[in-house]
Amino acid sequence: MATHLVWFRNDLRITDNTALTAACQHPSDRVIALYIATPQQWHQHDMAAVQAGFIYANLCTLQQSLASIGIPLLVLEVNDFGGIASAITQVCQQHQVDALFYNRQYPLNERRRDQAVEQTLSPEVDCHGFDDALLFPPMSILTGKGEMYQIYTPFRHALIHHLQTKLQPVLPAPKQRGGEVNTTDIPPFNYPLDSHDAFPAGEQPALQRLRRFCRENVMDYERYRDIPAQDMTSRLSPYLAIGVLSVRQCYHRLLAESADFLLQPQSGAFAWFNELAWREFYHHLLVAWPKLSMNKPFIGWTERIHWNPSHDDFQRWCDGETGYPIVDAAMRQMNHTGWMHNRLRMIVASFLVKDLLIDWRRGEHYFMSRLIDGDLAANNGGWQWAASTGTDAAPYFRIFNPTTQGKRFDPQGHFIRQWLPELGDVPDKWIHTPHQWSEKQGKPIDYPTPIVDHATARIATLVAFEQARKPQ
Ligand code: FAD
Repeated sequence: MATHLVWFRNDLRITDNTALTAACQHPSDRVIALYIATPQQWHQHDMAAVQAGFIYANLCTLQQSLASIGIPLLVLEVNDFGGIASAITQVCQQHQVDALFYNRQYPLNERRRDQAVEQTLSPEVDCHGFDDALLFPPMSILTGKGEMYQIYTPFRHALIHHLQTKLQPVLPAPKQRGGEVNTTDIPPFNYPLDSHDAFPAGEQPALQRLRRFCRENVMDYERYRDIPAQDMTSRLSPYLAIGVLSVRQCYHRLLAESADFLLQPQSGAFAWFNELAWREFYHHLLVAWPKLSMNKPFIGWTERIHWNPSHDDFQRWCDGETGYPIVDAAMRQMNHTGWMHNRLRMIVASFLVKDLLIDWRRGEHYFMSRLIDGDLAANNGGWQWAASTGTDAAPYFRIFNPTTQGKRFDPQGHFIRQWLPELGDVPDKWIHTPHQWSEKQGKPIDYPTPIVDHATARIATLVAFEQARKPQ
C-alpha cells in the first residue's frame, strides 16, 4: 500500500479532477488531500476579499465531498510562496507520503513554485503533474511553424480540430475508499473574507447552474448576451476561475444538449463555446509570452504612451462617480457583488483607458482586487484587448462612445436604474444623459457631472497613441 498526497490548488472539485483520479487509481492506496492558503501572496496581488471568501466556502464543501469518498483534507496556511516546499516536505514526512499528485497551474510564479517543490521532494517522493485546467495544455495548439497563434480566429479553428479528435472525457468522482473520515471545521484564513449569495459554494450548485444554462438559456445566448439587464449569460466564471467546475464539463454538457453545435456557427451554443475558446486563447498566450504576466503590454510601442497620472480621476472611475451612467452602474455592480457583465467590462475598461487616458494596468489591478472571478489570463487578456495593447486587440483608433454603448445595450436604462437609484426620476429618454434633462427641467440631480467630454477626450487619446507609435 502506498500513500498518495493530492495537492489542490485551482481545482476545488472531486469530479473530473485529473490529479485526484490518478491518485485514486488503486483502491488499496491511501489518499490524503492538501490545500495551502498563502495570504501574504494574496495580499501582494490584492486578491479580492470576495474571491478569498469564495475559495474558503468552496474548501469547506470540498472537505465534505472528499470525506464522503474516504479522503481527509489538510488545510495549511503558509505565509510566503517560498515556504510552500518546506511545508509540503513536512506533510510528506509526517504522513509517509510516497507520491504527490497535482494539476498544473500555468502562470510563471506558479510554475516556478512547482519546480521548487519537485526539486525539494525528489527523489524520496514521486511527483506527478497533470494538465487539467484547460481543454488542451498551453503550447499544444500551434501554427504550422510550431508557434503559438497571435490571432484568435485561426487559434479557434485549430482548437476545434483538436476537440474533434483528442479531448478527454469527463472523469467521474473517485469511488469511496477506506473508512469514515471525521472532519473538523476549517479555520478561516488570515485574510479578509467576503461572501455573496449570488454564488453558492460547491460543485453541485455549479453543475446545476451549468445544466440549467445549457438547457434553458444557451439557445438565446447569441441574441441576449450583450444585455446586462437580462440574466442571460451563465455566470459560471467564479466557479471556473477556482476550478469548482472544469471547462471540459462545460464543453461536454454543451455537446450533450446540442450535439452538432460546432457545425452551426450561428447558434447560441457556438457563441457560448466561442467564449470558452477566448478563455483558452488567453491562457495559452500567457504561457507563450511570459512578459504578459509581468505587467508588460503585448505591443511594445504602447509602453511610450504618456498616461494620465491623476489619482482623483482614477478614484472616480473606481467608485462609479464619472457622470456616465452606464460606466458608473457597472462599477457599482462590481464593487457591490464582485461580478460584472462582459459587455460592461469592455465599456468601463475602454472608458478608463480611452476617455481618461489612465494606464490599463491600474484598471487591471483594480479589477483583480474586486472580482470574485479574478483570473490573471482572462483579466489581462480583456484589459489588453480594451486598451489596444494586446495581440488581436481592438485597434487603438476604435473608441467606444459610452453614451452610445449605454443606449444600445441598456436602452430603457433598466440596468442603470438598479445601481443608480439617484436617477430614479429621470425619464428613459434621458437616462444616458441625465444632466441634459436636469438642465432642461431646471431640476437639480444628486449625480456627478461628466468627468470628461467624450469627444474631446477621444481626440486627446488618439493623439497620445499616435505620438507613442511614431518611430523614435
Ligand atoms: P459567459 O458569457 O457565460 O461565458 C462562459 C465562460 O467563458 C465564462 O464563465 C468565462 O470563464 C469564459 N469567458 C467568457 N468571456 C470571456 C472572455 N472575453 N475572455 C476570457 N474568458 C471568457 N473573465 C474571468 O473569468 N476573470 C476575469 O478576471 C476577467 N476579467 C475581464 C476583464 C475585462 C476588461 C474584460 C473585457 C473581460 C474579462 N473577463 C474575465 C471575461 C468575461 O467578462 C467574463 O468571463 C464573463 O463576463 C463572465 O461571465 P459569465 O460566466 O456569465 O460568462
